[in-house]
Amino acid sequence: MTSGAPPTLGILGGGQLAQMLALAALPLGVRAVVLEPDPQSPARLCAEHLQAPYTDPAGLARLAACTAVTLEFENVPVEALDALESRVPVRPGGALLARSKHRAREKEALRAAGAQTAPFLPIEREADLTGALTAVGGQGLLKTSELGYDGKGQRRVNSEAELRDAWVALGRVSCVLEGLVPFEREVSLAVARSAEGEVAFGPLVENTHRQGILRTSVFPAAAPEGTEARARDVARAVAEAWELAGLLTLEFFQLPGGALLVNEVAPRVHNSGHLTQDGGGLSQFEAQVRAVLGLPLRDWAPLHPTAMVNIIGTADGQQPDWAGIDALPGSRLHLYHKAPRPGRKLGHVNLVAPDLETLRARLDQLEVLVP
Ligand code: AMP
Repeated sequence: MTSGAPPTLGILGGGQLAQMLALAALPLGVRAVVLEPDPQSPARLCAEHLQAPYTDPAGLARLAACTAVTLEFENVPVEALDALESRVPVRPGGALLARSKHRAREKEALRAAGAQTAPFLPIEREADLTGALTAVGGQGLLKTSELGYDGKGQRRVNSEAELRDAWVALGRVSCVLEGLVPFEREVSLAVARSAEGEVAFGPLVENTHRQGILRTSVFPAAAPEGTEARARDVARAVAEAWELAGLLTLEFFQLPGGALLVNEVAPRVHNSGHLTQDGGGLSQFEAQVRAVLGLPLRDWAPLHPTAMVNIIGTADGQQPDWAGIDALPGSRLHLYHKAPRPGRKLGHVNLVAPDLETLRARLDQLEVLVP
């Protein structure tokens, strides 16, 4: 790092992603400051915690005094970023956030950038429901345009009657109806871009979900040859069209044959990239810190086969087999210091192995140890 006052990274949001960004920043000589209303913010343990609403003027003034500001959470008000942008570099900025936090706008902007998506129709009012399911292929998912995550705010629909019921159940809010995609696998890839336009990529990772929540990520993905290059092309096109500064993760559906549809994007590090913490290469967290602060960028990927299993709160409070996890060769535990609740992400286990066969065998063992 250069001489002078140590750089500081302002982060909007103080969850586990902010916690891991702050931890990745420290060895680079960078301290993090988080603006987060939750007094139990996981990031408070390793960063300066401004406990205030995201639009709090004093909190925003403290962030404006940082070297640069980023976010770890899409549901911060765009106004908070707008209020900062004339005072400090904000990466990504409010215009990109406004796109990526609204499913219909996001899909339109993805298509405008040349990416393919599932067939979709915005649903704003009751009249939009008529004929919509047929238009997207007869089977679909109705998703709220905003505030949905981890499979929340969405319903599978197979008939127009189900579609109408789902829209009422979701509160008659702005939604997107997507056609059901017969994907072969789900993969993701992140792109980092500096304010000067320098681009670097993360690894192609394969993801499996359980009840709409990410359960497992594996590197390398078992996708057909050429998939990673295609994912990079899409990621670069979106990053350039959207003038990304910072890091953007793209989730894809890979169709039989290899074509990629973008499911959704997040303008930040992502749960599917956590395995980069322990694979020996640069981590996604360091990549975001570097991109945001204008430090040199390079591609990042594990140097060995690596997997991640999420630790998610269970309905009956069942605990993982901690001793078993600890005894598994190549495992590393990451806990977020959050109070357990059913469906809540409480931590993850990364697993590194010398070859893919060993990784698969140990992953099978790990799956049994984490309920
Ligand atoms: P999302 O909240 O959009 O990431 O959706 C959560 C999960 O639901 C995805 O990771 C997929 O497994 C599944 N899913 C979402 N949208 C579709 C779709 N259009 N077709 C098939 N599966 C989907």
